[in-house]
Amino acid sequence: MNKRHVLIVGGGYVGMYAALRLQKALRRDIKKGAVEITVVDPRSYMTYQPFLPEAAAGNLEPRHVVVALRRVLPHVKVITGRVVAIDHANRTARIEPRGGDEYDLHYDELVVALGSVARTLPIPGLAQVGIGFKQVEEAIWLRNHVIDRLDVAESTRDEAARRRALSFVFVGGGYAGVEALGELEDMARYACRYYEHVNPDEMRWVLVEVADRILPEVGEEMGRYTVDELRKRGIDVKLHTRLESCVDGHVVLSDGTEFDSDTIVWTAGVKANPVLAASDLPLDDKARVRAEANLRIVDTEDAWAAGDSAAVPDLTGPPGAMCGPSAQHAVRQAKVLGDNVARALHGRPIRDYRHKYVGSVASLGLGKGVAQVYGIKLKGWLAWFMHRTYHVSRMPTLNRKIRIILDWTLALFFHRELVSLGTLQRPREEFERSALPRQATPLEHVGGAARAGVGLRR
Ligand SMILES: Cc1cc2nc3c(=O)[nH]c(=O)nc-3n(C[C@H](O)[C@H](O)[C@H](O)COP(=O)(O)OP(=O)(O)OC[C@H]3O[C@@H](n4cnc5c(N)ncnc54)[C@H](O)[C@@H]3O)c2cc1C
Repeated sequence: MNKRHVLIVGGGYVGMYAALRLQKALRRDIKKGAVEITVVDPRSYMTYQPFLPEAAAGNLEPRHVVVALRRVLPHVKVITGRVVAIDHANRTARIEPRGGDEYDLHYDELVVALGSVARTLPIPGLAQVGIGFKQVEEAIWLRNHVIDRLDVAESTRDEAARRRALSFVFVGGGYAGVEALGELEDMARYACRYYEHVNPDEMRWVLVEVADRILPEVGEEMGRYTVDELRKRGIDVKLHTRLESCVDGHVVLSDGTEFDSDTIVWTAGVKANPVLAASDLPLDDKARVRAEANLRIVDTEDAWAAGDSAAVPDLTGPPGAMCGPSAQHAVRQAKVLGDNVARALHGRPIRDYRHKYVGSVASLGLGKGVAQVYGIKLKGWLAWFMHRTYHVSRMPTLNRKIRIILDWTLALFFHRELVSLGTLQRPREEFERSALPRQATPLEHVGGAARAGVGLRR
């Protein structure tokens, strides 16, 4: 076999699992120099997204919910950069590395594993004040931010600023939104015990959902149960409601409600990665790359796709059914895809992907959950326990599994960690303050006046 270069674009679920599979199946070819595998991703790690809500709530150390690609893929070349265009006719991808100029990378086999991005709407103010919930950076930021808002509420004397700091809005009732809200509200409620002037009932947590139900992943009945549970906790679940605008944090909802908030989290669905539009690959009406059941991209040679960025036929559903965007499909498709690429390179027959969606588990905070798996409905502690055991069993690498179990075990013996390292986002602030020439602040002018004999009242 002539030397073949397999290029995997995206190092998330599909990219990492497919690379792991290929690294194993082709180890002899890699050793002989007959095959080279490259993964390109703007991040040097894969994120286990179902654990992001727990990372945001401080139950898990954020570093433990990501897997370093270079560590698990020692026989694969990892490029930290972004693919900005794909010219499959010429077997070339344009790479924008983290530093330096763009360049073209030639390949023989292409694996598209670009995942999805937040599906946003042109809502006034959203791009300026909203935040998504797909990346570990967003989870860390939100955790610091929520605790920071409690600090603000505790310390301010301005009632409007206090109400604004204590208002938290999540738009979109899928598992990302519901789990993130459930976990963060649980954490904030717990944290209130350390604040003299912040009562948990003063916090305003709002879930805005345009449909008449939430959590479609766990079925209608469990979705209704989740609404009731969240409402019992004082969370304002607004169904049939849209976010109309949030300019400067002034939230306007379609039911006429208006209030100010510093925290607007957008989790209203995903769409295929827009980079696909800059390729010559065939796309469906949702801009996903069209794949056959064997995960080969339709009407192409030497190109494969799986996960959120691919439209893959669901052979277990009615004719025309497609696999939904979920980790459940992504992981399984990645394994079939890796095997098929290895088989194709060796001139062996390839097989179809077939998996019946088994349902979902969701966490709503410590000891609280909801699940529907193989038609079995579970609620409360049992569902939460199932969420944890299922996901830790799926977490890649033994190292990460052990670290996560240790995080949970330590949390049993010690209180929750509630430090806000909000200044992590502004690490140079203190240094700049001392290095730059100081200008007198208004308070110092008043202080000067006070020293001159004018009364200063606080
Ligand atoms: C908070 C949350 C909770 C979830 N919980 C569940 C759950 O409980 N169960 C479940 O089944 N599913 C869950 N999901 C969905 C699941 O995580 C996704 O379906 C899954 O990650 C899809 O895998 P993927 O490989 O297609 O995409 P991803 O895992 O997102 O990987 C895509 C990769 O492509 C990279 N990339 C993006 N642009 C470029 C570019 N231009 N060039 C190169 N690389 C690029 C990204 O950095 C990323 O690493 C959850 C998702 C979220 C956000």
